[in-house]
Amino acid sequence: MNQRTNNGNSAELKIEEKIGRVFRTKCQSLLLINPLQVDEDKIDYEIAKRKRYYMYPPYSLALLSARLQQYNYKVKILDLNFEVFDALHKKSEPIDESEIAFIWKEILSNTLLNFQPDMVGITCTFTMGHEMMLKTSSFIKEKKSDLPIVAGGVHVTNAPEIVLKECKSIDFVSLYESDLSFCKMINFINQKNSREKLSQIGTLIGGNYVAIDWRTPPSATDLNIIPDYGELDVSQYSNLGEIGTFRYWRPEDSLSSPILSNRGCRAKCSFCSVANFNGKGVRGRSVESVVDEIEHLSQEYGIQHITWLDDDLFFDPKRTYHLFDTIAKRNLGITWDASNGVIASAAVVHPELLDVASKSGCIGMYFGIESGSNQILREIHKPSGKKHFFQLGEIMENYPQIFTRGFLIIGFPNETLSQIKETIDLAVTMNLDWYTVQLLTPLPSTEIYNQMVDMDLIENGSLNTEGEGFTMFSVRESEKQRRRESQNKFKSSKLSNPLNLDLNTIPSKAELDDLWLFADYEVNYKKIFNEYNPIKLKKMQCFLKDISDRMTLEHPISNFFLSLVESKLGNFSEASKRKKLVVAYLSQSNYWDSRFKLLDISLDPLQQIPFP
Ligand code: SF4
Repeated sequence: MNQRTNNGNSAELKIEEKIGRVFRTKCQSLLLINPLQVDEDKIDYEIAKRKRYYMYPPYSLALLSARLQQYNYKVKILDLNFEVFDALHKKSEPIDESEIAFIWKEILSNTLLNFQPDMVGITCTFTMGHEMMLKTSSFIKEKKSDLPIVAGGVHVTNAPEIVLKECKSIDFVSLYESDLSFCKMINFINQKNSREKLSQIGTLIGGNYVAIDWRTPPSATDLNIIPDYGELDVSQYSNLGEIGTFRYWRPEDSLSSPILSNRGCRAKCSFCSVANFNGKGVRGRSVESVVDEIEHLSQEYGIQHITWLDDDLFFDPKRTYHLFDTIAKRNLGITWDASNGVIASAAVVHPELLDVASKSGCIGMYFGIESGSNQILREIHKPSGKKHFFQLGEIMENYPQIFTRGFLIIGFPNETLSQIKETIDLAVTMNLDWYTVQLLTPLPSTEIYNQMVDMDLIENGSLNTEGEGFTMFSVRESEKQRRRESQNKFKSSKLSNPLNLDLNTIPSKAELDDLWLFADYEVNYKKIFNEYNPIKLKKMQCFLKDISDRMTLEHPISNFFLSLVESKLGNFSEASKRKKLVVAYLSQSNYWDSRFKLLDISLDPLQQIPFP
């Protein structure tokens, strides 16, 4: 709703009254907090040391900070996620959950004491950050019971009632894109705005959720603003964790940072929350503003690689061409990746964008494919069809320097094994370099979530934090497999290939977990047996090394195929080393041994590796 309506008046009056009660003084200094992104008890020291947790600088808070400062407010950003991982990386011994809690609580207490904010803004983008947002807010209220807290971000917008009901410490939620509406709220508190300017605010009044829902989204011109990170050292983030998903392919140790060129997406896929958060359509920043920001990142922080946060990077082909062309011509010496995914049909219809992307430093691109079934693609409103995907596979063969990846999802409502097989077959034919296979997890406020509630497949009001859904911040399926393996190392489980069942079967949740292994094997590994193209082999070598040595340790499948790749590339010593690891891992784990048998992986090809 982009128009204020008279119906909003009663909500406005109630919210005005509550703002008056909660904000008893003027609001001049604001503390913006990025809480720890992963629950304290779920942080694994070894995984953190291998830089596997996502570590994005808080881009939206930095944008908000820049805008609030235009109104002369005093702003400080506290990134507790960065602080905890920075401390953790400096430790030589594993630390437990209570020590992690001690770190962030101490830093937060000191900041509250020294900065003396008039209010706190707290952000939460992904469902997996829900618990820590609640804990952080509660801790703040324990320290200062009268300090107002406003929460915002994608997750908060997706589930505002759940957030407010589960955390009484949060006074208000700031909904959707808050660039303008949050500033207007602060101006209202400081009596610089009238009540009619209030928008995108929700709160609980007498236990009931009340919201001013109408939106004041930033226009394309409003977006021409460079984020102000204040005291945060953006150059350090990629040294602590992941930004984007192409670390193994970008220049080694290159410092990385995210950037946003446009907001929103032309499509409205039923499982995706972008349309709910950003509203209809796409707004693009001016090319000059975007390229100036890249230059600023490079000069101020020494950034050498950027990850686009865009959900529809190729929207407006003319502008996109101009953007990449300007990056190339300004000779900024950066590389970039599109980890959030590019719409396949947009790339197929405008292949010139791939040309200029490649010239401007593109080294990695994700494509949202999701399914190989035209019926499912229609049902989820995907903006690309199978014909686009097949064409895309052929076109991308012309850009061997770009590491290509595809998102695949299995487990759509009523999806049959036959449709899952179509997805596998499509991916194999497209022959992208690698695929991320995810089990569908419905996000609140999406069409598919409501469908699944109606079908009694999920409970209304549940957050489904286990699978984390369609987000690149998810607990990756391979990580879940690793956990299953460590829990079942010595169990000889009886397994069968779910793809051998009647293809009209709709797999159960447990069958989907097993199916993931098969799908992952079929689309990513099996093709390596017949791969002889040296460039493709080089790509596999980089990626499989990353899986084996950093992403999922003691993984015999990745080591098996790495051994094969190394031997095809003539690196027999490395091939032999990997082969020994495979044999050792299999002898230590019944879990993997039974899976090797089931996948019909024979060690024979490795026996032919010449003795180095
Ligand atoms: S999944 Fe991708 S293409 Fe679909 S609406 Fe979301 S961002 Fe757009």
